[in-house]
Amino acid sequence: MTLTPQIMSETLGAPHEKDRGCPISLVRPDPSLARPLILSSPHSGRDYPAELCDQTSVPVEQLRRSEDAYVDVLIDGATAHGASLVHALFPRVFVDVNRARGELDPAMYRDRMEVRADAPSRRVASGLGVIPRVGSDGQQLYRRRLKFQDAQARLVRFYEPYHDALAGLIAEVRDRFGFAIVMDMHSMPEHSAPGVDFVLGDRHGQSCDPRITEAVEAGLRAQGFVTVRNTPYAGGHTTEHYGQPATGVHVIQIEINRGLYLHETRVRPNAKFDIFRDNLQLFIGEFVARNWNGLTSS
Ligand SMILES: [Zn+2]
Repeated sequence: MTLTPQIMSETLGAPHEKDRGCPISLVRPDPSLARPLILSSPHSGRDYPAELCDQTSVPVEQLRRSEDAYVDVLIDGATAHGASLVHALFPRVFVDVNRARGELDPAMYRDRMEVRADAPSRRVASGLGVIPRVGSDGQQLYRRRLKFQDAQARLVRFYEPYHDALAGLIAEVRDRFGFAIVMDMHSMPEHSAPGVDFVLGDRHGQSCDPRITEAVEAGLRAQGFVTVRNTPYAGGHTTEHYGQPATGVHVIQIEINRGLYLHETRVRPNAKFDIFRDNLQLFIGEFVARNWNGLTSS
């Protein structure tokens, strides 16, 4: 697969506003092909709202380093294998859907928060709550404190549709098959796990049946990739919130080393992109072809 001119121009072009339209992409497979697999990509959005660009002095090229860039493109062929896909179109620095809705930092707002924030967490303290305060290099995003009403509006317009779509897909798939498997797809900076190609996060065995983690691990290792489990990433909000194996919902977080497909600082696909994407499609095809009927919770 070759990256289309549209994708390349999005990479190179000026920020543009699409925030009046639907903030997520949801693609279902042909019903006759459908399998109990959902792939989600919460961090690959690259439509930078004018609202964000007006509020930050950090250039978009720099903001883009926070993206799990092009993960949506890496997985978009999976519908041919019967998977359903959901991904955010808005950037992670604007709203991070892999956080709980209440992971808010009162110090970011110049007025009183009208909702109760969750108990302070390490993620919020480091500036990486649901409305991030810092970018990938730890740089402050905002010149001044935000209006809480604006943050609330972001959650309503971006966070809620993403989770409505994901929860809806999970319910659909589980109704049809008796269970659902979600692969929550991310990419990590090369330096996060040197020498490791994939980090598989199943919250130390809590968020999915162990056969799923084993199958993902075996499938990727068969292609020569190096995988580890749960370190340094055991799974975020999506894995924790939706991964309830006892109710038939299984979630595994998959972190891809960006060096496999991306020029990290320029945020451009590298020369290995197409081959890596093909390998990933092969892995997904083999994964869904397995007999998963034993997972049915009833
Ligand atoms: Zn991510």
